[in-house]
Amino acid sequence: MSDSEHPCLRCGACCAIYRVDFSVYELQSEGGTVPDGLTVEVTGNTCRMRGTDHVPIRCAALTGKVGERAACGIYEWRPNPCRELEPGSHGCEKARARHGMPPLDPQML
Ligand code: SF4
Ligand code: SF4
Repeated sequence: MSDSEHPCLRCGACCAIYRVDFSVYELQSEGGTVPDGLTVEVTGNTCRMRGTDHVPIRCAALTGKVGERAACGIYEWRPNPCRELEPGSHGCEKARARHGMPPLDPQML
């Protein structure tokens, strides 16, 4: 395993704890980037990553196993809430704790 590997690639916890809602204008069908088929409609203006609204939470775009090897299958096309959750943030720490993982070592960031 490379020391320079991004810590998220051995985690994925935030993709298996939070509900991921965003504007329908982020959908491919609306001129955005997120593949419609991986989402569900919430209201006329909001949609949600499929799999993030029922327990156990797991985004339909997440590949691999949380805490071992994980990746976002639509990384370049993921919606804004995913871009905004930064490694090492409070949201990151909380997600990792819920999956039994310690906070990221700041030196890894
Ligand atoms: S919980 Fe933190 S370390 Fe884990 S995938 Fe999300 S941002 Fe990366
Ligand atoms: S779209 Fe990607 S980054 Fe966002 S929750 Fe799903 S797997 Fe995680």
